Amino acid sequence: LAHGPHLARIEEARAAHRTTHVNAAPLIAGPVRAEPGRPRHSPSDPKDLVGWVQDASLRDVGTALAHARPWNIPETRCAEILRQAADLYEVHFGEIFALLAREAGKTLPDAVGELREAVDFLRYYASRIETLDAPARGIFVCISPWNFPLAIFTGQIAAALAAGNAVIAKPAEQTPLIAHLAVRLLHEAGVPPECLQLLPGDGQIGARLTSDPRVTGVAFTGSTETARLIQRAMAGTMAPGTPLIAETGGLNAMIVDSTALPEQAVRDVIASAFQSAGQRCSALRCLYVQEDIAPGFLEMLKGAMAELRVGDPWALSTDLGPLIDDEAHAAIAAYVAAARGQGRVIWEGAAPREGHFQAPVAIRVAGIEAIEREVFGPVLHVATFAGADLDRVIAAINATGYGLTFGLHSRIDDRVQHLADRLCVGNLYVNRNQIGAVVGSQPFGGEGLSGTGPKAGGPHYLPRFTERAAPEALSTSEP
Ligand code: NAD
Repeated sequence: LAHGPHLARIEEARAAHRTTHVNAAPLIAGPVRAEPGRPRHSPSDPKDLVGWVQDASLRDVGTALAHARPWNIPETRCAEILRQAADLYEVHFGEIFALLAREAGKTLPDAVGELREAVDFLRYYASRIETLDAPARGIFVCISPWNFPLAIFTGQIAAALAAGNAVIAKPAEQTPLIAHLAVRLLHEAGVPPECLQLLPGDGQIGARLTSDPRVTGVAFTGSTETARLIQRAMAGTMAPGTPLIAETGGLNAMIVDSTALPEQAVRDVIASAFQSAGQRCSALRCLYVQEDIAPGFLEMLKGAMAELRVGDPWALSTDLGPLIDDEAHAAIAAYVAAARGQGRVIWEGAAPREGHFQAPVAIRVAGIEAIEREVFGPVLHVATFAGADLDRVIAAINATGYGLTFGLHSRIDDRVQHLADRLCVGNLYVNRNQIGAVVGSQPFGGEGLSGTGPKAGGPHYLPRFTERAAPEALSTSEP
């Protein structure tokens, strides 16, 4: 974390919002009937009541659709307002960092990265408006996950607005308070209320929105299973060719061959598998280590895992914060317990008992084909391979059907090209960690079961928000 002399100021601004109650309700251009809210507790501290949220009703969905109005203003003014929103996000950094810690369990480095990405999306799509042939003037529904509750939420909205659409945003049920703050800042910057409406709520609200014929496009980021449901709902009710821009899950692998620099590779495995407590779509799920270096490499990996600190996202010494909620925690704890029962745990760290904390774990597997689904937490699967079997490993990775991120640690130039030619993945990372994207210069997106493309933060993303073309179907093969 490189904040230098500003760190004290950041800590002070974040701490000022540590106990504030934040409430949220639907933000729609028509009337909303006041209903009792549901409490939002922090995933790291069940005693911290962050605030209350009033979820949208199905009636609110109808009201929002009836009041939605496309954003019909000159391109330069639209760009100015999005840039103004970026400035406002930066001004409100203390409030944003505090909410990211309290509602989403984000450590300060994660929160800093997330705010920077959100701001980059706003400025990047503002800068691309002039490249569009014609504005869309439709109604776009934007449905987002909890793991990047500010950056992904903002990126989808900024693109849809930049393309001239009215936006109805449905944030994840776990992170409505951050979404509410973001929409208030966008409104304050000058986006009219009927051009950007917020409907907090669960999948039912998303399902209702994605089966309404008035909707002209859907941007979705979340699991592959939900994307399939949305695709089916849209096919049943919307005009043929209504665009679905979906960014979904991954079963991401990394290969470390015998020419890799071990210290560097271990450091990158740790960042790839455990940053954000493994709750990144890009996170490393299956590590392949060449068998002749495996014993020494795994000893180093265990040593590095033993150094990781799990706990309070407010502490600057924390590496892994909590899992998002009780359900996620119970599912991952059960998965790890099963592996422990089978004697496959290579290493397991320690975690606090209060709150939804999961210790980082390494589990032995025969290969990626032994992983049945994306395990969305700090669980690293480890396999070994013989040098002669590299193509078999590549085939197994491709056979999952997912294609989000892939990492390679090797000092053999031809091998880099060999893998790049054969792997079906959206983002390939060579001799570095395999998480992260840079808006504008390193766009992010997947192939196959990992998404429809085009990549977010890249030049082809924005034009899709003006289309009425046929959605590229998600592959129907099972992972
Ligand atoms: P999720 O699919 O459970 O939920 C995502 C959103 O969809 C939520 O807002 C949810 O309320 C909504 N939803 C649920 N059912 C719906 C339905 N039937 N119709 C419409 N909307 C519905 O995913 P999650 O648990 O919030 O997020 C984690 C997943 O997201 C992981 O699989 C991760 O890999 C993926 N993800 C992918 C990317 C990427 O860029 N590819 C980025 C972040 C997260």
